[in-house]
Amino acid sequence: MPETTCTLCGRPYWSGPSHWCGNCLSSPPPYQSARAAVVYGGEAAHSILKLKYHGGLNQAAALAALFCERDVIKTETLADIVIPMPLTAERLARRGFNQAAELAAEVFGEKSVPVSERILERTHDGHRRLAALSAKERRQAVKGCFRVAAPQEVRGAAIMLFDDILTTGSTAGEAARTLMEGGATRVDIRTIARTVPAQWR
Ligand SMILES: [Zn+2]
Repeated sequence: MPETTCTLCGRPYWSGPSHWCGNCLSSPPPYQSARAAVVYGGEAAHSILKLKYHGGLNQAAALAALFCERDVIKTETLADIVIPMPLTAERLARRGFNQAAELAAEVFGEKSVPVSERILERTHDGHRRLAALSAKERRQAVKGCFRVAAPQEVRGAAIMLFDDILTTGSTAGEAARTLMEGGATRVDIRTIARTVPAQWR
């Protein structure tokens, strides 16, 4: 991931200073920042796919190390709680584990920030192909996908939402919106990788 990004959503820039991108200026997201360690592709993509779809739990340590090597973890100091992006109960049952939780356990296991899987619930998956929709359609498609299950732990808390990949950011945005509505003081999104559309490169 290049050094210069949108200071809010983390969209990478390959030249010039960091600044807010046009999307964030016209429609600021409900989180304080989103950052990823790497651009999705190559070895990292291979490891993430293996972890998610081929039960490759042994990939989690290497991916966590990749994340920790980069500076993206810095805001750990800002967070009271780390919440791995939840899966719906159906998807969790099918996959047998939540990859975001496995990665969060690797990254934060030795650190003093608690990781909690029971604060935020995913009630449904929403639209499958978000990338094909406009930004507005995506916000609609994921609306109401999350529920705060432990309101007392969200009120007044600075929260880090942790996931393997950030794609359109709409799902993470909806999770952040739900947590902010629940009284969180801030939500920062951290992922191992983020997809970067060709037109941004
Ligand atoms: Zn932005």
